Amino acid sequence: MAITRRDFLRHIGLTGFTALSWGVVACSKDEGVDPPTGTPDGGGNGNGDSSTPEVVPPPDSETSRRVFQHAVASGDPLSDAIILWTRVTTDDTAPVKVKWQIARDVAFADIAQRGEFTTDRDRDYTVKVDVTGLSAGTTYYYRFIALGGSSPVGRTRTAPSGGVSRLRFAVVSCSSYAHGYFHAYRSIAKRLDLDAVLHLGDYIYEYATAAYGAARPYDPPHEIVSLADYRTRYAHYRKDPDLQAVHRQHPFIAVWDDHESANNAWMNGAENHTPLTEGSWEERRTVAAQAYAEWMPIRELEGPKKIYRALRYGNLAEIIMLDTRLWGRDEQVPQSDPRAQDPYRQLLGQDQEAWLSDRLTKSTSQWKIIGQQVMMGQLPIFFNNDAWDGYPAARTRFLDTIKANQTNNVVVLTGDIHSSWAINLPMDPNDTTTYDRQTGVGSLAVEFVTPAVTSPGFPDALAETARQAALATPHIKFADVSKRGYVVLDVTPERTQAAWYLYTAPEQMTVNEAFAQAFATYDRENRLRQESAPAPDAPAPPGAPV
Ligand code: FE
Ligand code: CA
Repeated sequence: MAITRRDFLRHIGLTGFTALSWGVVACSKDEGVDPPTGTPDGGGNGNGDSSTPEVVPPPDSETSRRVFQHAVASGDPLSDAIILWTRVTTDDTAPVKVKWQIARDVAFADIAQRGEFTTDRDRDYTVKVDVTGLSAGTTYYYRFIALGGSSPVGRTRTAPSGGVSRLRFAVVSCSSYAHGYFHAYRSIAKRLDLDAVLHLGDYIYEYATAAYGAARPYDPPHEIVSLADYRTRYAHYRKDPDLQAVHRQHPFIAVWDDHESANNAWMNGAENHTPLTEGSWEERRTVAAQAYAEWMPIRELEGPKKIYRALRYGNLAEIIMLDTRLWGRDEQVPQSDPRAQDPYRQLLGQDQEAWLSDRLTKSTSQWKIIGQQVMMGQLPIFFNNDAWDGYPAARTRFLDTIKANQTNNVVVLTGDIHSSWAINLPMDPNDTTTYDRQTGVGSLAVEFVTPAVTSPGFPDALAETARQAALATPHIKFADVSKRGYVVLDVTPERTQAAWYLYTAPEQMTVNEAFAQAFATYDRENRLRQESAPAPDAPAPPGAPV
């Protein structure tokens, strides 16, 4: 693999990195998100459908393929609602009316709801519908019709309510298009028994072609800075067949990390942002958030900048998605900087931190599953000032909340670091009076770190040293710092288990994916146990036709 030490260090922000300079292109004003102009008018089972059924053009016609070239997506499941997403491609500049249908069967014989959404230039012709009034824990199929074409059929699933015996999620992060093919997305698309895919960020990367990875070129070829740039980059990603495949089969629950704006971003800047040549950070952050809201199937609760939110999966789990990146993060500083030890230092920001404490202490779901960006456990080898290690007071406050309230069953899910880890989270891994490294007793929560879909891990020259150093620590129980892949997370009342599926060489078309390791945390134990095998697959409704 052509991955250099410099690539890696640059990516995690340990060396200086000169950004390519591009002027900021004037962008259209943020008009906010239009509400759907068509009310769900019912249909199918006696919901008072008075309209003539739509003529649905074949999805494989030339027109359908052109109009719906960015396919479909869905996300943010609630027990009665789901976000449906598509985009239309048009040469015109006029608004476009897009019809949508959601059905209980793959043939659309049993349509649950339908409606119409008007999209236009101000939202880059993206379509986002928050369909409500759905049944809990149910698989649905959906499609869109516009401009003489119809979209591919998507498949999605609402969250269950009440008692739940089993949940299964895929967990992914870091899909650098330039580093190869999205094998993880293809594999996850084939796993039909998932409830949702959790994407922990770095869904896109902002770099120019060949600036970070050279296996595939980007559109636009330059580093993305303006609103038009970010939109074009999402559009480019959404033409990838593996990414389309995974969106077609599963709802996403996504948060951004840094590369949806710029490398090693924080609240008021980023390592890979140069105001002198690239304009104000506030402007870049704003347009990056706008494009994210337009292109990702995320429910916008209070405008495009606020992405932290919780999704309840019945009594079994609450999925708590954080923004450790842009919402309230103080600037990264070296370990020697006095600010690193500031007791008020923020990674989440005071308001998000208070909200998180509230969710942890008031949630009535058994498992509190936190989807977030950067590694929480103490990393040996080097000081990663971009992760929780760089914000030790924030980590202590988080663990204090769990300890003080005797909160059980907190599972932290992490991306960003392009490697795989299973970590116990005691207050201090080196304090033998409060933490037993052999049994894990004293751990307050566990962390599962998902590797990158494609982005490179530690360089080969460092990998073995890093792995050995990691396993010599009292709290790290599993580390693979080289391979790409994804995590399958199985949640039952008995345990939450992570299984890592890993592969090498994503720049090659052939896939060598294999099950690598599994770790679980059992009810109220708050510590890791190694497992020997992945959890069994479950029967699932048919996939969306491909
Ligand atoms: Fe990344
Ligand atoms: Ca990152």
